Amino acid sequence: MIILGSTGSIGTQALDVVERSSELEVVGLSASTNVDQLLEQAGKFGVKRIALSDESAAARASEAWTEGDVLAGAEGLIELITDTDCDLVLNGLVGSAGLGPTVATLGEGIDLALANKESLVVGGDLVMALADATGARIIPVDSEHSALYQLISSEKPGTIDKLVLTASGGPFRGRSAAELAGVTIDEALAHPTWAMGGKITIDSATLMNKGLELIEAHHLFGVGYERIDVVVHPQSIIHSLIQLNDGATLAHLGYPDMRVPISYALHWPERADVPVRPLDLAELGQLTFEQPDAEAFPCLRLAREAGLAGGTAPCILNAANEVAVCAFLDGQLPFTGIAEVIERALTDVPTQPVGHFSDLYRADAAARAKADELIEAVAA
Ligand code: MG
Repeated sequence: MIILGSTGSIGTQALDVVERSSELEVVGLSASTNVDQLLEQAGKFGVKRIALSDESAAARASEAWTEGDVLAGAEGLIELITDTDCDLVLNGLVGSAGLGPTVATLGEGIDLALANKESLVVGGDLVMALADATGARIIPVDSEHSALYQLISSEKPGTIDKLVLTASGGPFRGRSAAELAGVTIDEALAHPTWAMGGKITIDSATLMNKGLELIEAHHLFGVGYERIDVVVHPQSIIHSLIQLNDGATLAHLGYPDMRVPISYALHWPERADVPVRPLDLAELGQLTFEQPDAEAFPCLRLAREAGLAGGTAPCILNAANEVAVCAFLDGQLPFTGIAEVIERALTDVPTQPVGHFSDLYRADAAARAKADELIEAVAA
């Protein structure tokens, strides 16, 4: 298999899973700029083909490494997928930059372990149609979607009434809209239950992560938005639930540890040992649930509206979010400005129907340019 984004949070945990497995073999790795860590991983796992999306990082790697091929840039990532013999690609990239590699993987008919939710948020209809056409399978790595995938796989079509996504609520659960105005970057990066990369941690703090997951679930499982609920569950023990036509509700439980859904996706359809603590319900004592606060966390509403609008709306939502989160992490935008930028981008950039991937790349660029403008206006 190939691991894209191998120096990130998903990538390093995936390599931890690979290290404990006798069946999994890595034949390609990619990173954006972290040459030292990528070369160390390549040496340790005997990988002969690596790609760096950052051209200057790729040039440095070529000089330092003589044991295999170094591919460069966005095209290098695609070449790694299309020109390396493999039966699975783990896409652990961040943001809509993951869409091209998702399309390349599915286009080749290669199964995809998908941690890059933006691929489905931005290109859902086309990505699912492509997988259908080539027969490639998409196995979700997102913990909620892995849970749903496992729950749904044992049910017959037509028996599922509802999907219920659980959300931790993030570090600001319980705060009012007014109390969120002055929160700091460090506070937003302190996720209560999951250890993840910076972008997704901020998305969790705004609840945009759950909004993106709502759109992801809609495409992955072909379920209408009216049949997907979100419930806040601060302990992150229940990873998601399905409600069936006979009144039964099935849940998937476990301590929050991404190695569990990663291992599931990499070993599918088998299961392999993962060194996690067995769940102790008596020790936990109680699990709690509450409605998401739509007023304090408008991103969840914005994502649902963009999903319902369809066309390029989810692409615009995602691009504006990526730009706004980056500006927040750079100290250029207050926390509450993230939702403001996204809402105004969705109003200002017209939604178009999507016939081809090029429609998405155009909408993505237009939304990024608009979001850049809006950041100055909102921050002023
Ligand atoms: Mg998730």
